[in-house]
Amino acid sequence: MSHALPIRVLSAKDIHDLLTYDRCIAAVEQAMSETSAGRVTLPLRQVMPVPGDRGRLGMMPGAFAADSSFGIKLISLYPDNPAFGLSSHLGLYLLFEAEHGRPRAILEAGALTAVRTASASAVATRHLARRDARRLAIIGTGEEAETHLAAIPRVRDIAEVVVWGRSADKAAAFVARHRDRINIRAAASLEEAVRGADIVCTVTAARTPILFGAMLEPGQHVNLVGASTAATAEADGEVVRRSRFFVDSRQSAMAEAGELLAAIRDGIVDESHIQAEIGEVISGARPGRRGDDEITVYKSLGIAPQDLAAAGEVLRRAEAEGRGQMVEI
Ligand code: NDP
Repeated sequence: MSHALPIRVLSAKDIHDLLTYDRCIAAVEQAMSETSAGRVTLPLRQVMPVPGDRGRLGMMPGAFAADSSFGIKLISLYPDNPAFGLSSHLGLYLLFEAEHGRPRAILEAGALTAVRTASASAVATRHLARRDARRLAIIGTGEEAETHLAAIPRVRDIAEVVVWGRSADKAAAFVARHRDRINIRAAASLEEAVRGADIVCTVTAARTPILFGAMLEPGQHVNLVGASTAATAEADGEVVRRSRFFVDSRQSAMAEAGELLAAIRDGIVDESHIQAEIGEVISGARPGRRGDDEITVYKSLGIAPQDLAAAGEVLRRAEAEGRGQMVEI
């Protein structure tokens, strides 16, 4: 038996138009609560090296127990792509309905990832940063730097942004793109960017530490977003030791959080250093920040329920507004 299946195809532009940060932050917050309550199916992601060794293919399936959909993200990671005018993250998100397993939508996955990752950092910032946090430091000048600049001010009253990039030209260009609407400047060094910041987001493809514990100040909140494998780290063991350490998923952190795993391997901390999953903080099951002098770190690896929640939100809006292209397969 063969029936044509209608599928809605949604471009990066559709996603940016339909998935506002406020909507995505709300969807990801809910997804993180569901994750920590165990109401998700979350197999550990698979990562395959691709021929030629220029990148990797990530495969991230997931489902909510109480939802009528499930999905999978297929995304290639090519760190050198920006030099060719391409995103370092390219791929597709496939959304299915759960009653008969029919595919319903195909979404461009780079935009989805960039928006949902920054939204996840915003959720962590909402629950862990000091309430009076005003100064934001962004470490990195790529796609995630852009989305983090958009997302973090949704949850704190940001009065000043300081950006650092290893390329001074790219940092200057980043500032030039945004200075009309926000108070933003480039720092000459990473240390200068972090000094006096209330919220620090590391969003680089660095494979070895660039953020060191000695740079941190009491009261700061750090979102470690860049490194997403056991063998890479943006921050050193001292950042881990000095902080109260929060994760998106314990299971993922113990498999892939390079900063934490290196600190455990070096005998600096053990697994009990993980204070909580962010979903446990959201639900009130575990405490987040306990005082204005604590340093809090959120280690973001990115998990499938974030993609599913964001994709579901996009599809609902697209159906309501008639957006996207219908194709039959
Ligand atoms: P981009 O390729 O757009 O940007 C990468 C940035 O990292 C650029 O500013 C680049 O500088 C900088 N960079 C690369 N190497 C170094 C280094 N050794 N030291 C300092 N800076 C460096 O990537 P994205 O913005 O899309 O992603 C940023 C990181 O976040 C990646 O590692 C990515 O894998 C990760 N990520 C994490 C997710 C999560 O859920 N936690 C989801 C998506 C991405 P330059 O331009 O000079 O090369």
